[in-house]
Amino acid sequence: MTSSPVSGFWKPLVESDFVERLDAFLLEHVAPHAARIDREDVYPMEIVKALAQAGFTRSILPTQYGGHGDFRKTIALFEGLGYYSVSSAVSLISIFQAQTMLRLFGSQDLQDIYMPKFAEGMPGAYSLTEERHGSDIRKLDTKAVQNPDGSWTLNGEKSFITSGGGAELIVMLAETPKGVSAFAVPYGEGCEKYVGVHSATMGLRNGPHVNMRLTDVHLPANHLIGAEGKGVRQAAMTLSFSRTCTAAISTGVARAAFDGALYRAHGRMAFDQRVLDFQGIQWYFAEMFCDIEAARLLTYRSADALNENDDVDRYSSVAKLRACRTATDVALQAMQICGAYGTSDSTPYARYLRDAKTYEIGAGSAEIMKNTIAKYIIRGLEE
Ligand SMILES: Cc1cc2nc3c(=O)[nH]c(=O)nc-3n(C[C@H](O)[C@H](O)[C@H](O)COP(=O)(O)OP(=O)(O)OC[C@H]3O[C@@H](n4cnc5c(N)ncnc54)[C@H](O)[C@@H]3O)c2cc1C
Repeated sequence: MTSSPVSGFWKPLVESDFVERLDAFLLEHVAPHAARIDREDVYPMEIVKALAQAGFTRSILPTQYGGHGDFRKTIALFEGLGYYSVSSAVSLISIFQAQTMLRLFGSQDLQDIYMPKFAEGMPGAYSLTEERHGSDIRKLDTKAVQNPDGSWTLNGEKSFITSGGGAELIVMLAETPKGVSAFAVPYGEGCEKYVGVHSATMGLRNGPHVNMRLTDVHLPANHLIGAEGKGVRQAAMTLSFSRTCTAAISTGVARAAFDGALYRAHGRMAFDQRVLDFQGIQWYFAEMFCDIEAARLLTYRSADALNENDDVDRYSSVAKLRACRTATDVALQAMQICGAYGTSDSTPYARYLRDAKTYEIGAGSAEIMKNTIAKYIIRGLEE
């Protein structure tokens, strides 16, 4: 599958030495495998290991575990991964979601167990969804009951677990007597991962999004994350972080589709001129350029909100909504500009489109983003 040169329109928005190191890593370890991972729908364990070895899986951990505490760099990392391989990006985002829940809400005890493992590159996943509960996770069919000694027993079934195939620790929501609560579930006795009828998706293909059956899974008392009954709020805060990462991945996809179409239009002749010389085609590029610019700036603005811990819900929802929509629009437009070449299995445009569209649903659908933004607007008015 061909890959076009990277255009220089979007300058790094973080320190250039970080970007240079990142670009070299992506070109060596990620870009050559992107098409195959998507085609074969496999968990890219080799890439996850390489990310860990280069320190990228530690980015958001507390500093004593190798984190750098700068969300702009994390966003640059996802923008780069999104440019070359969304499948690899979603493997990292799953790890970061599990890490975030633990970092923000896990007891010191729990952090002491799992942070060193995460620092060594342990793969993780994040599991909210069930067969009957997707956008609405206020009630769940997976139940956790507390035993007299304080330990917990979990029973039920989770679905759509991205990176579930490779994950060793799954951060999971289950219903307890006080509401929905979060747990750290090491993959082990009583856990059965399997590929369900809906596990294979058209985009974000890093191995099937597995189901997991839990049969009398026993967890020590300290594996409850945060306070009992606060799982939905904790999950929402974790998702606010990952929405910014999703926006960055989508910005990367949009940039890749734009660059590919640009070089194609520049090199392709029709009616004795370059395709790029048709004004109608130039206008397409001008529109895409503005949309990508806007999505990218919103995404980095959201990274600043994360750095300052200020209004994260607002900025992450706006960035995700805009960037994911932009990626779908740009991928479609790029395919159109490339003509038949854009529809060929030998080119990446269908992959861009499949990944972009899937991210308008996964990690919080466009409608849920609009609900969050609308709530923010109404609250602002009433205050
Ligand atoms: C590729 C992929 C990977 C995923 N990975 C994970 C994962 O790792 N972990 C995990 O837990 N989940 C994962 N999911 C599940 C994902 O989080 C849910 O698909 C998503 O939350 C939407 O839920 P749903 O699909 O059940 O849609 P539903 O909740 O059934 O919604 C159906 C439609 O109704 C709309 N809708 C729902 N509520 C409202 C409302 N209040 N207002 C307006 N419209 C509304 C939705 O936006 C959607 O358009 C993944 C999904 C995909 C596609």
